[in-house]
Amino acid sequence: MHKTEIFQRRKTKKIKVGSLYIGGDAPISVQSMTNSDTRDIDATVKQIQRLTEAGCELVRVAVPDMKSAENLSEIKSQISIPLVADIHFDYKLALKAIEQGIDKLRLNPGNIRNKQELIAIITAAKDKKIPIRIGVNAGSIPQEIIAKYHGITPETMVESALWEIDLFEKHNFNNIIISLKTSDVPTTLNSYRLMAKKVEYPFHLGITEAGPAWCGTIKSAVGIGILLAEGIGDTIRVSLTADPVEEVKVGWEILKSLGLRLRGVNLISCPTCGRCEVDLLNIVKQLESKLDTIKMPITIAVMGCVVNGPGEAKIADIGIAAGKGSGVLFRHGKIVKKVPESEFISALLDELKEMQTKNF
Ligand code: SF4
Repeated sequence: MHKTEIFQRRKTKKIKVGSLYIGGDAPISVQSMTNSDTRDIDATVKQIQRLTEAGCELVRVAVPDMKSAENLSEIKSQISIPLVADIHFDYKLALKAIEQGIDKLRLNPGNIRNKQELIAIITAAKDKKIPIRIGVNAGSIPQEIIAKYHGITPETMVESALWEIDLFEKHNFNNIIISLKTSDVPTTLNSYRLMAKKVEYPFHLGITEAGPAWCGTIKSAVGIGILLAEGIGDTIRVSLTADPVEEVKVGWEILKSLGLRLRGVNLISCPTCGRCEVDLLNIVKQLESKLDTIKMPITIAVMGCVVNGPGEAKIADIGIAAGKGSGVLFRHGKIVKKVPESEFISALLDELKEMQTKNF
């Protein structure tokens, strides 16, 4: 199908994070954060490997204490994607994380306010060429800024970040990525829009504390999706109260749905209606569970009847348009054969396997 461009991407600096670039012309990346105990190296590495398999391109770990900070180089040596240390309150943890060779640091301007401590971090990060994300979170804005703007507003969020950006720039540190996350979608949108007019640093997008998987997915898709559609955003993290692998899957679906990245299966299926004469809900559910590991970008359509079925199935790489108890299998718009309902899944998977083997 013809792809429609819906935005012009905001121009930003390009920041190197280990083997990955964020901003500039770099692809918008998908990231996540572990919820394992960073003091437990094995559990953390295993979770990062699962995230990597799901398509995570950058991973953040919490560093709440010195033991966690001391584990970072060992964790990094066992994983294949860049590692970000998430530090709050204690600047010594940031210094230790930098010493351990992390690829990026995340600081919250709301909870390390001591200028001398920040300067020590800036000096160490500059020395090792490690970028820093200035990650403003609505839950930890300094009270004086909240009082100035009478609550959490986009201005509150932006001012909190600018305070730290200003200090960094005064010390010639420009290796910066910014995030301005709240759990309220309109406030988050306007915070990023406001900041986009003020700086050229790349943005890490997210709706923070978005909630459990179902509603958090919707909030994140709306918030992140609107900004991306306006050309704002360089890396995304979906925050869910769920297995972080789900965050990565949702992140990819957001990028895929806007045509910004390609990865894995784009599954098209109809909602069914009174015309459907096969058990499409069950077929699609079973099929979906078998497609998780596919990385090759491919569109598969599974449609319930002849109204829209043949049209969608023809546009897809592989498709089935169902009839009464059977369906017609399409490959790149051409009819391959008629298939009984009981063989829909195996027929689609066989076609998929063949396409993967021949890479067409
Ligand atoms: Fe109904 Fe057919 Fe449309 Fe599916 S493709 S929703 S079964 S009309």
